[in-house]
Amino acid sequence: MTSYALECNLPGNIPNMENMVLAVDPEAVFTSGSADYRIAITISGTKQELTCQGRISGRQSAQVTFTDREIGDSRYDMNAFTQRQKEMVRKGALVLLQKIGRPAPPWGILTGVRPSKLYHYLRDLGFSPAEVKERLQAQFMLAPEKAAHLAAVGEVQRPWLQKVAGRISIYIGIPFCPTKCHYCSFASYPLATHAHLVEGFLAALAYEIAEIGKTLARMGHSPATLYIGGGTPTVLTADQLRELLEQVSRSFPLGELLEYTVEAGRPDTLDREKLKLLRDYGVTRVSVNPQTFNPRTLVRIGRQHTVEQVEAAVAQVRALDFPCLNMDMILGLPGEQEEDWDYTLEKLLAYRSENITLHTLAPKRAATWDFSQVKGEIAEERVANWLEAGRRRLVAAGYYPYYLYRQRRIVAGQENSGYTLPGREGIYNIIMMEERATVLGLGGGGMSKWFDPVSLEVSRTPNPKCPATYRGRIKELVAEKVNKLLASVN
Ligand code: SF4
Repeated sequence: MTSYALECNLPGNIPNMENMVLAVDPEAVFTSGSADYRIAITISGTKQELTCQGRISGRQSAQVTFTDREIGDSRYDMNAFTQRQKEMVRKGALVLLQKIGRPAPPWGILTGVRPSKLYHYLRDLGFSPAEVKERLQAQFMLAPEKAAHLAAVGEVQRPWLQKVAGRISIYIGIPFCPTKCHYCSFASYPLATHAHLVEGFLAALAYEIAEIGKTLARMGHSPATLYIGGGTPTVLTADQLRELLEQVSRSFPLGELLEYTVEAGRPDTLDREKLKLLRDYGVTRVSVNPQTFNPRTLVRIGRQHTVEQVEAAVAQVRALDFPCLNMDMILGLPGEQEEDWDYTLEKLLAYRSENITLHTLAPKRAATWDFSQVKGEIAEERVANWLEAGRRRLVAAGYYPYYLYRQRRIVAGQENSGYTLPGREGIYNIIMMEERATVLGLGGGGMSKWFDPVSLEVSRTPNPKCPATYRGRIKELVAEKVNKLLASVN
């Protein structure tokens, strides 16, 4: 563990610097006292020209001075100037760390979850795709392949963002799973210990769906997309699932839906009866997520389903003719190497799954695993090369990337990317990541995101993750959402 003391002349920028240091050195600790390294950044200048002066001292030392005149471009406004100051603080810190031999992070000075938001922001200001790509490398220090990947994703998304502008999407969270995967930090409670909460939760959810449906109908809104996730919605019994789907159909007009997704992520929860119900109720997209086709890893990560169950679930999805199947895999699971990832991707390509999502493992504190115990078994140094090779294989097979996001502590500083066959983009994923339209989050852990089309800002109101708390607070949660919805048209 290396300690750092950070200084900056711009108030409020220490957390910004910390994020940059953590992107390069995830084990970094911060102190205001004596440290292995002291990094000091000073930003000065005018609206036309900003200068960064930085110095790192301690075990090694280095200095940097650079000037940014690009911010003087007339397409930028005052908000962009303030933002650029923050970016220069990070850039100064990153250049200093590189000068003392730290590796260049693939996403440069972008430390947030949604790099594609920056792409849309620059395109909206009037920069062309080529100009944005150039800036991503020069100003934001992205590796060329990440700048190209981001530009490809951004251009695919832009027509979809237009299509859903002004429309509301619905997310419904079912916070139960058969078992808890060891790496999981989602709202998910294993049925073995929480089955007694299911009925009460579903009653509260039925009430929330009905009340929100009534309010949207009064306002003349029909949802753009519907997404039932979790957890694993298909962990419900066929009868419970039927009642839920029936409630959804009664409450929301489904005629103008662009997409209706149900996460059927755990193949051990699926059978023909449940999948047929989904199809009969108009679901257009399902996820069956193997994560890996290595049976030993499946046991190790606590999935407790078999490769054969994945095969059977996919066969049933295909037999019922769902327009879109999504399948996820995770890179960086302990004990796995390139040959495991190759094999898993080959299987997904063989299924011709319309959507394939390549996740990179992101150790989370809320997970059951103590990642320090398995760190030595994660092939971290191989992930970057394989991801690029995987991207090429997907593109050669007719897929293109349509959404991406990053996570704190993600292995090798990489990202998660969704790929699609032409025209089969998972639209909710784009909406959820880009935050250019309102999403109402119902159910356990549902996060409502209220989009303001004038300021482009998003405010969030969460539902409790715990099914019992959700049930206990349901009246208050629904009243709050209804009031906010009605206020949004006044
Ligand atoms: S299936 Fe998904 S939500 Fe459920 S425990 Fe595993 S990772 Fe978490």
